[in-house]
Amino acid sequence: MLPITGYLPTSLVDFPGKIASIYFVAGCNLRCPFCHNSSLFEIKKESLISRETIIPEIKRRSKFIDGIVFSGGEPSLYDDLIDLMKEIRNETGLAIKLDSNGLRPEFIKKALPLISYIAIDIKTTPDKYAELGSPYPAAEVERLMKTTAELIEKSEVAAEYRTTMYPPIVESHERLYHLAEFVPAKANWFLQRFVSDHAYLPAAQASTSYSIEQLERMVTELRNETHRDKIFVRAYIH
Ligand code: SF4
Repeated sequence: MLPITGYLPTSLVDFPGKIASIYFVAGCNLRCPFCHNSSLFEIKKESLISRETIIPEIKRRSKFIDGIVFSGGEPSLYDDLIDLMKEIRNETGLAIKLDSNGLRPEFIKKALPLISYIAIDIKTTPDKYAELGSPYPAAEVERLMKTTAELIEKSEVAAEYRTTMYPPIVESHERLYHLAEFVPAKANWFLQRFVSDHAYLPAAQASTSYSIEQLERMVTELRNETHRDKIFVRAYIH
């Protein structure tokens, strides 16, 4: 079952350069304290969008949109989504973007030939993923993150990585520098400002954020040390 439980008919900001419809897939393999989509953790049967209605709806709107985004929750948990992506490609020709936390490279491998843009949320270094409710030990997180980065680097798909700068899990420059190892060289990497409103856990709701000026300094230092120029500040969570 593919638990799509949310739908936004038109977005101008979620798929760079495209007007897109967004489908939200429920369920996630993490529990990030700063998550803004915790309403998607559980699959609510009453909210399920029938699989049969999706292609007709996309066809109906195809004059007004250029692309489809699958977001979550964590869309990569569901292999059935690959079939839906194939149908969208074959029946509408619309471009597809996937949002993912990158912890299911076997899914990413199957999705890459079907999509034109991928956005990976990379949270922190593997040893801190336990604080995000990861079901995997650190060594396995490292393997999964590296495999996903290698697949994306070798593909033709445009990529962005983004890190929500929640101070308790990206508390030092050394950690950020280490995190750069897991970001493909071709990807734009956004350090996005943590916003405490609507965060999942009370501790995150009470947390401070880095200022834009602090984030800009981090980006400058990271660019110099990693010799990458595609690192940016994003002032909001995306
Ligand atoms: S931020 Fe993303 S990966 Fe983390 S719990 Fe929320 S939906 Fe899952």
